[in-house]
Amino acid sequence: YQAKRDRTGVEVYESKRDSNTPDRLGLLGDLRRALDAGEVELHYQPKVRFDGQVAGLEALVRWVHPERGKVPPDEFIAIAESSGLMPHLTEYVLETALAQVAVWQAKGLNVPVAVNVSPRDVHSPGFAGAVAARLARHGVPAGALQLEITEHVLLEDPQRAADTLAALTGHGVKMSLDDFGTGYSSLVHLRRLPVSELKIDRSFVARLAVDTEDAEIVRCTVDLAHSLGLLVVAEGVEDDETWERLRDLGCDAVQGWLVAAAMPPDETTAWLRARGARGWQRPNRLAAGAA
Ligand code: C2E
Ligand code: MG
Ligand code: MG
Ligand code: MG
Repeated sequence: YQAKRDRTGVEVYESKRDSNTPDRLGLLGDLRRALDAGEVELHYQPKVRFDGQVAGLEALVRWVHPERGKVPPDEFIAIAESSGLMPHLTEYVLETALAQVAVWQAKGLNVPVAVNVSPRDVHSPGFAGAVAARLARHGVPAGALQLEITEHVLLEDPQRAADTLAALTGHGVKMSLDDFGTGYSSLVHLRRLPVSELKIDRSFVARLAVDTEDAEIVRCTVDLAHSLGLLVVAEGVEDDETWERLRDLGCDAVQGWLVAAAMPPDETTAWLRARGARGWQRPNRLAAGAA
């Protein structure tokens, strides 16, 4: 039970902060059942380079609760993390994503897929070996899998996390550092983590075109990442102007609603087929204006 005193001195019960409310326990049970019943789905959001080539897809989990409707991932992932269900959820996501990659491979669509993993996963014993075994079982080359981690993996047991990540990259799995800029002492982390890609958090990208400080932060991040030999992806690109700015700043790829939101598997297949041959084209308005 957690309570907070508001400005009037009245105690306000904050259900969001309490990890053991009936609400959360109910959701947790429902999530467990949903995973077992295969009701949790993955959608896929493209990462595209500025020449239009599809650099990869990010798998994003989607859960439609029978009574509550869509539950945002941020919400149920927090519940899974604090309850011990996270390894189960990650297994499910990896299994589903790799099966989908194998399906796409069979159709001649060779596109790498990124899966988000939580610090819990990285710290669970045998994680790297389990990922390698799963890749082998699906006949998917390690290079077709990317794992997105955040700086939080280093908070608990940095050495253990570093060992697991080294084992994963040893197997050929690529690592990406997600939500960059929102964690702690990012520079130190960048040196310690064997990542090949860095994703600039949407909070810096969103106002890039109108906020000069955000633009400077992005510029410095791109330069820093490049000097360390990393690819830079910007998250949450919603308009042409932001796209132009990011290209001018030397960013390597973008992800965002401007290109495509996360799509169900069949829609993703159609998207890949339609764009695959000539790459994703920027909207005509700006292309024409720039000519
Ligand atoms: P993330 O990995 O940083 O994913 C990016 C989030 O931004 C996604 O939200 C995506 O749908 C959203 N997004 C993409 N483009 C745009 C845009 O142009 N504008 C805006 N406003 N948003 C955009 P989503 O799917 O709700 O996921 C939220 C977070 O939940 C993810 O952040 C990730 O941390 C976590 N998550 C999602 N799926 C998984 C999963 O399978 N496993 C784990 N461990 N975490 C996951
Ligand atoms: Mg991500
Ligand atoms: Mg992110
Ligand atoms: Mg984010």
